[in-house]
Amino acid sequence: MTSTEYLETLRQELSHPATSGCRRKTTAAISISWRGGRYSEVGVERFVNGPLEGAWCDDAVGACGCAHAEQRLIAAHLANVVAGHARPEALDIACTLAPCVSCANLILLMREPLIITRVFYLRSYHDNRGIALLRRGGMHVEAI
Ligand SMILES: [Zn+2]
Ligand SMILES: [Zn+2]
Repeated sequence: MTSTEYLETLRQELSHPATSGCRRKTTAAISISWRGGRYSEVGVERFVNGPLEGAWCDDAVGACGCAHAEQRLIAAHLANVVAGHARPEALDIACTLAPCVSCANLILLMREPLIITRVFYLRSYHDNRGIALLRRGGMHVEAI
């Protein structure tokens, strides 16, 4: 698969309609785990934002209480590694919306343990500090 085809595949994966329990908006993030360096062997997992079990969305701007899709993605991968179900593999993250500053920090913190290699996003976020932070941290970031 060429990189052009890969990016088109990411766009398609991100364009599946999703609904979250968040009353403000739905965002999605997919993880692409590279096994053996071939796309035919990758594991694709999909995550959406929303309230954690037993919690709810407060519908407040900037603080609705929901977990972000990227937070769920990273937590799920970390939990798998900690539980011994998976070894870290090179991981790409693709998001419908550019990561916020908090998620950018989390991505940089987990970059080495989870071997996060690239971050792709479909739409810009009104606050571009997350993207700036990732770039400053040396992460490959690309709008698709
Ligand atoms: Zn919410
Ligand atoms: Zn975020």
